[in-house]
Amino acid sequence: MKHVYLDNASTTSMRPEVIAEWNHNIVRYFGNPSSTHSFGRQAKSALENSRKTIAKLIGASSNEIIFTSGATESIHWILTNSVTNLGVTRIITTKIEHHAVLETIERLTNEQVQVVYLPLDAFGNISLFDLEKILGKSTEKTLVCLMHVNNEIGNYNNLKSIGEICKKNQAYFMSDTVQSIGKFPFNTEEISVDFMVSSAHKFNGPKGVGFLYKRKNNSLQPIYHGGEQEKGLRAGTENTTAILAMTTALEIAHKNQVEENIHIKNLKSYAINELFLYFEGVQINGDSESSSDHILNICLPFDENKSAMIVFLLDMKGIAISRGSACQSGSTKPSHVLAELLSEKDLKKPSIRISFSYQNTFDDIDALIDALKKI
Ligand code: PLP
Repeated sequence: MKHVYLDNASTTSMRPEVIAEWNHNIVRYFGNPSSTHSFGRQAKSALENSRKTIAKLIGASSNEIIFTSGATESIHWILTNSVTNLGVTRIITTKIEHHAVLETIERLTNEQVQVVYLPLDAFGNISLFDLEKILGKSTEKTLVCLMHVNNEIGNYNNLKSIGEICKKNQAYFMSDTVQSIGKFPFNTEEISVDFMVSSAHKFNGPKGVGFLYKRKNNSLQPIYHGGEQEKGLRAGTENTTAILAMTTALEIAHKNQVEENIHIKNLKSYAINELFLYFEGVQINGDSESSSDHILNICLPFDENKSAMIVFLLDMKGIAISRGSACQSGSTKPSHVLAELLSEKDLKKPSIRISFSYQNTFDDIDALIDALKKI
């Protein structure tokens, strides 16, 4: 049976070049970057070169990049720091952020810290007018937390415009850029964003490593104590091999961005055409006009009783997709994102998220369509 992986928003496989780098670096840079002997110095210098490379790729400076274990840690750190250190008493967000954001905000909400959820239209988009209005109404110290690309439906927010509104209203702006770093061109000099987060495994790098961007002058209190790593902000020996592999993965993603994005766009268009040809009544969830090409979320015109089993049924036919975010895949609850957008009736129907990478082919889409025809 042919196995087809169409769940690249959950995670991606490491590029062969990244694996080669990994194998080489795990031997070459085994020294502890905090050691002062030559083994340590070599590892430290490789690490700092990585920081410079990553910073350059997103138009930042190296002291604005902090290596972490990935987005969940970075999100938790930034949100908590905003309240406990930056004095934020109001967080503006939406109900379709990733659970790492929503659940952290929930834990931070109390009498002193309130959360405002922006309304969404039927396609899952916010209105910049609403944001401006809410921000202008109060002088409370505010953090606006809006993701770049939604991991379930692919909709994207205009970071540049949001950043300008935040700046004008003296609000901090944090964006969960997990699904867009590596896929979109970035320049933090052009976007007024204060904090961004990233996980390497979303752009064909290794798991368990990522970075956060913190605009200089924004203060961040240490998350861990007991070491001087990451300028004393995140104690603990750095995972040099993973950080170097992440850097290579991001460099390649940027180098191939235009070419790979065209391929992915073509795959998505082909998938949409085929789905509409063979499945009358299929609907696209989210904004089909303005969404990232690597994510396609559809509501299938199938019987409701297939909803809970759809991922399993496709998996039995060799096709890997998901119903929403990977961390929710085992759940029978409807996706919190779709729950904000779909009618009660459509929410009961099977919806799936198909997510593409540069490695997918048109044959993969044909295999998905064939499998769906047999369900
Ligand atoms: N934010 C978004 C939008 C995501 O898609 C994910 C992962 O699916 C995360 C945050 C959490 O990333 P990680 O599990 O790598 O920490």
